[in-house]
Amino acid sequence: MELDAIKALIRDVPDFPEPGIVFKDITPVLADPIAFSTITDLIVVHFGRGNIDKVVGIEARGFILASPVAYHFGAGFVPIRKLGKLPWKTVGEEYDLEYGTATLELHRDAVAPGERVLIVDDVLATGGTAAAAASLIEQIGGKVAGISCMIELDFLHGRDKLPGYDIFSLLHY
Ligand code: AMP
Repeated sequence: MELDAIKALIRDVPDFPEPGIVFKDITPVLADPIAFSTITDLIVVHFGRGNIDKVVGIEARGFILASPVAYHFGAGFVPIRKLGKLPWKTVGEEYDLEYGTATLELHRDAVAPGERVLIVDDVLATGGTAAAAASLIEQIGGKVAGISCMIELDFLHGRDKLPGYDIFSLLHY
């Protein structure tokens, strides 16, 4: 399936979840069996089987994309969650939102030192979320092998917060 056809499935929802935000709704892509599997396959082909030990999904839509990617790599799946959701010992990282801050957490034993980790999320916007995720993985000794998003909002320059990382986004706006 061509990327343009996948892009055509993404639904722009103006003023959600707050005025001024154009929300990129990926649910029509997830519901389309060819589009969903194409996205998964392209991520795995870009980074290559045998090169990734753990795939980290960022709550909540990142979980949906990261799980089939992990399965196809033959890698483990690891969740990064919002503050207070993970049951075991965690490391935490605070990051800036448009208004205020938020904290993401990762289990301290989720990644072994030296393991090659791919971060997966739905949208790369300002880059704060992905930068916090990369920091968490590095705090426990993991090596960030790459960051993959279905959508990158180029006009927000999220990449500038992520120097030196292999960032692979399938659709650009
Ligand atoms: P950021 O930290 O600014 O890069 O924001 C990335 C996170 O916010 C991702 O986990 C996305 O799910 C979510 N996000 C940011 N902007 C949008 C948008 N326009 N549409 C959908 N999700 C978004």
